Amino acid sequence: MSQYDFDLFVIGAGSGGVRASRMAAGFGARVAVAEDRYLGGTCVNVGCVPKKLFAYAAHFAEDMEDAAGYGWNLTADGFDWPRLVANKNAEISRLNGIYRNLLTSAGVKLLEGRARILDSHHVEVSGQKYSAERILIATGGWPFIPEFPGREHVISSNEVFFLEQLPKRVMVVGGGYIAIEFAGIFHGLGCETTQLYRGDLFLRGFDQGVREHMANVLRDKGLDLRFNSDVARIDRNNDGSLKVQLDNGEQLETDLVLYATGRRPHVDDLGLENTAVELDDKGNIRVNEHYQTTDSAIFAIGDVTDTVELTPVALAEGMALARWLYKRDEYRPVDYNDIPTAVFCIPNIATLGLSEEAARKKGHKLKIFESRFRAMRNTLAGRGEQSFMKLIVDQQSDQVLGVHMVGPEAGEIVQGLAVAVKAGATKAVFDATLGIHPTAAEEFVTMR
Ligand code: FAD
Ligand code: NDP
Repeated sequence: MSQYDFDLFVIGAGSGGVRASRMAAGFGARVAVAEDRYLGGTCVNVGCVPKKLFAYAAHFAEDMEDAAGYGWNLTADGFDWPRLVANKNAEISRLNGIYRNLLTSAGVKLLEGRARILDSHHVEVSGQKYSAERILIATGGWPFIPEFPGREHVISSNEVFFLEQLPKRVMVVGGGYIAIEFAGIFHGLGCETTQLYRGDLFLRGFDQGVREHMANVLRDKGLDLRFNSDVARIDRNNDGSLKVQLDNGEQLETDLVLYATGRRPHVDDLGLENTAVELDDKGNIRVNEHYQTTDSAIFAIGDVTDTVELTPVALAEGMALARWLYKRDEYRPVDYNDIPTAVFCIPNIATLGLSEEAARKKGHKLKIFESRFRAMRNTLAGRGEQSFMKLIVDQQSDQVLGVHMVGPEAGEIVQGLAVAVKAGATKAVFDATLGIHPTAAEEFVTMR
């Protein structure tokens, strides 16, 4: 009989924590998971899922415009934001229930409350103390908002999903995933939208071709993109609107400011001072290749560590750790190469492997293939918007090093290509593959 209440005590029932709990329990471990806010974590409640539902909602604006060219006489009779939020909330509640069932049917003990670590083998939840042979920290991240005068007037992605009213004017600050996705959502829903980014061009780290193409497309759609701009201060006007002073002296009026300036590991009041767990200089929990922290009984996965902040990565880490600890003969390390990812702006960006710039930096001699074209659907719709595709190929080995796309359903298309690239496909293999006609995706196998 073990001296501990549990073999594994997981803190956080988000993407990584739920996967690790279920798998470990499935391998016979006695598992508890503590969650203080919402089952399913960021992704299900204030991340991937509600964001994608909002993006679908925003897309209808263009779909309805485009329908006219296809013979439909549609009259849009306004947009009902409270109905969208209520329907989204109902769907998220349904998913919360599914997560609860998944955990309990796997035999995981669910403790609803905030967990605090007392020492390497003890955790407290709602005044109750539990012992465990191992503790797994899967507490995710939290929005970061820099300090500036008027910071109290802005919201983060945590609040944006629950706004009571859709503002008339919105300013989004940041140039990463969340900023560009929400600028697109607000613009699609009819808000006058400004996006402010402190650097020369948003989406730092993405392929330059993608970044430039996306900026052009969004400007053509009517988004007010302002690069090399930052907020100096924000004041609230008597009528509730906001006066935003930019660092170049300009002043803008808006109704809502959304900050999307990155996320930080969520370790507040976790009791790490009672352990030997060390943080890196960015505040991430430091782990080795088996997600073990500097306290040998404590492990950490997902956004609370210095990893790629994506749900499939947290899931893969949870799975790898459960196998490493409880089913080692089935252990497979997570492969962090060629992680495909999509930004669900309108249109989507999807990307996989190296950008042209990163590939050159690594010393590859390259063959670059690019295609810009108007998707067939846009013809009758009278929409000039172009899609963009790019393949980065190593000259010597002919291996495809990077796949990049801006265009409708880019995420769906690039997911399939990710399998080919993972399998080591060369450009010759792409060339030997027949297209599915007529699709946009076939362009990836016809680029010469
Ligand atoms: P989380 O999912 O954040 O889970 C951590 C959990 O721990 C939370 O439920 C939290 O309440 C709980 N917790 C924290 N501290 C305690 C404590 N002391 N006691 C008890 N419980 C605690 N990724 C994608 O792949 N695709 C997307 O489209 C996508 N869209 C996103 C959109 C937004 C707006 C955001 C913010 C993120 C998005 N992400 C997306 C990223 C993705 O959500 C995260 O990478 C993923 O959720 C990380 O999983 P995790 O398990 O590390 O943490
Ligand atoms: P990102 O890291 O993607 O982007 C942060 C942005 O904020 C960057 O443009 C950054 O600029 C800017 N920034 C950072 N600090 C400041 C500051 N002090 N002042 C002004 N601007 C600043 O973070 P997000 O918050 O957008 O998202 C967090 C993570 O969540 C993403 O990286 C992604 O991994 C994940 N996510 C995934 C999604 C998906 O898969 N579709 C969707 C949403 C989130 P700079 O580039 O100059 O540093």
